[in-house]
Amino acid sequence: MSDIIHLLPDKIANQIAAGEVIQRPASAVKEMLENAVDAGADEVRLFVNDAGKSLVQVIDNGKGMSGTDARMSFERHATSKISRIDDLFQIRTMGFRGEALASIAAVAQVEMKTRRSEDELGTFLEIENSQVKRQESCACPVGTNISMKNLFFNVPARRNFLKSNAAEMRHIVDEFIHVALAFPDIFFSLNSNGQEVFHLEKGSLKQRIVQLLGNSHASKLVGVREQTDYLNIEGFVGKPDSAKKTRGDQYFIVNNRYIRSAYLNHAVMNAFQDMIPADSYPLYVLRIEIDPAQLDINVHPTKQEIKFEDEKVVYAFVQAAVKHALAQYSVTPTLDFDLDPGIQSLDAISKPFNAEKQRTVQGGSLFRSFTDQHQAHFIERSRRSLTDTSFLPDTPITTGLDPVQETQIPISTEWPTRSADDLLSPLDINEHGWIVQLQQSFILAPKNRGMVIVHQQIAHERILYEKMNDALTGKPVAVQRSLFPTTLELSPPDAILLSSLIPDLFQLGYQVEVFGGNSFVIQGSPLDADAVLASRTIENILEQFKHFNPDLRFSGREKLMRSLARQRAVKTGKVLSEKEMRSLVGELALCKITNLGIDGQPTYFNFKEEHFFKMFGSNG
Ligand code: ADP
Ligand code: MG
Repeated sequence: MSDIIHLLPDKIANQIAAGEVIQRPASAVKEMLENAVDAGADEVRLFVNDAGKSLVQVIDNGKGMSGTDARMSFERHATSKISRIDDLFQIRTMGFRGEALASIAAVAQVEMKTRRSEDELGTFLEIENSQVKRQESCACPVGTNISMKNLFFNVPARRNFLKSNAAEMRHIVDEFIHVALAFPDIFFSLNSNGQEVFHLEKGSLKQRIVQLLGNSHASKLVGVREQTDYLNIEGFVGKPDSAKKTRGDQYFIVNNRYIRSAYLNHAVMNAFQDMIPADSYPLYVLRIEIDPAQLDINVHPTKQEIKFEDEKVVYAFVQAAVKHALAQYSVTPTLDFDLDPGIQSLDAISKPFNAEKQRTVQGGSLFRSFTDQHQAHFIERSRRSLTDTSFLPDTPITTGLDPVQETQIPISTEWPTRSADDLLSPLDINEHGWIVQLQQSFILAPKNRGMVIVHQQIAHERILYEKMNDALTGKPVAVQRSLFPTTLELSPPDAILLSSLIPDLFQLGYQVEVFGGNSFVIQGSPLDADAVLASRTIENILEQFKHFNPDLRFSGREKLMRSLARQRAVKTGKVLSEKEMRSLVGELALCKITNLGIDGQPTYFNFKEEHFFKMFGSNG
């Protein structure tokens, strides 16, 4: 039998290796911008077409390359930045692995013009599939002008994996922002399909933040600056009252490199503790300077994750620096839980959860039946241990009612499981039957000879979601035209994002029109939504889109419907009129899925006649 092991041809090996470094157009953007910065440029221009799928071009005024270096730069492991293994511990440049250009050349068509100031003529180079097609002298400005065309033209499988232009463009803008934040003293511009999206003059970090994230941030920033022998921290955090409900703009830059770090994020969140509601996120841009010997940036091919020699120390510094800054500016803590006062005063929130209460609750069979895993109505969040009292304040609505009162009810039966005839149907709706609201959150209504208890917010989210789903696949929802249309002034990346959402928003009743540049006008909003809130609603959508976790489960439309359903649903704590209650229950009964909310929670519970009898130990 012949041997079966062989070496992969260079071309294939290169393509495989390239996959680690270049996953999408944005990866090339990052590498090319970093090369320009490493070359000492102070003006860097980025051009993309079709979200980088057909073109990513970076023009810099850096030091350029000699003809030989230009040719060499595309070889794998070709770098001018390190030469000995020890150099790894003194990295001051963005790149050092010598893989980026080789990877790009393996999966795209590349053209480069480059010239050093000492050379009269520059070099033109054309490479495709890792093969040099053309190399000749040319007249060109000092610096480097490199274009990557038709990414993955030779790897169709990868090309097919690319997302929509809107999604890929967001990745590009993210990478651009990361580099631009790290180097406020370099001019950057971003041009997409011939339109200038960013034009960032050199300036201070604060100016850069405002240029990138919008003017409205200027008055909301608190400066952070601590200098120690071990490390320096400087930058800005958002004032607590400007914290947002979605993971906002949060950036760590360590030795000029944007990094992700859940650990350091925790340190900042810790410093903000008790100043912002638990489910909101402050803005921060924090730059950390530390001796490179204290770092390992080589742990990840794209270098976005790094290891600190002593993580705990860095954590403590970050936390202390942010705390200090917040205290110095004596920002008053504000609590805004977006809750009705009625809910804030619920026992579950306002009263301490003491040991006595705990015992009563544990003994109560109703509680058990609500939390018993084997029940069809089992509510996931209640599974936490009862000694873990932390679940109480943030899930008062899910756990239901005041535990003490509830446990007075002696029931000995199993909680009912749901069968088809338990489902709410239009036949259950009796226009003249009784209907009441409980705790401004639940609607009780008769069903057959028992009753249902409906969660008004979860149910309404379901209703709105299904209506929007219909609207996106059928005719647009009814619209009210505004007499005084509101104008939205957006940051460039938000403008790109909103443009991509306009058609779907239109179907859903939000008539948004481009007004030139980054301005938009809201001409109309859904008839059944509060028109005054339309611009706020759109801003919230953009916010949520930008910071939706990279979770790819949901399509753009799905995110849009969810965001709108959540925003527009009637909240718990809102008093409803009898008419509103009837229409809510009636519309829920008409839904395709009546019993589950958009996150899978129950919309209602069913109490059948026989359960009432069983609760009292009789058979009816
Ligand atoms: P690395 O940045 O890790 O060294 P790259 O593949 O990104 O590897 O680049 C290889 C080499 O090409 C760099 O080390 C640098 O010497 C040179 N180079 C790349 N881009 C530029 C540029 N824009 N200007 C000058 N030199 C460049
Ligand atoms: Mg590089």
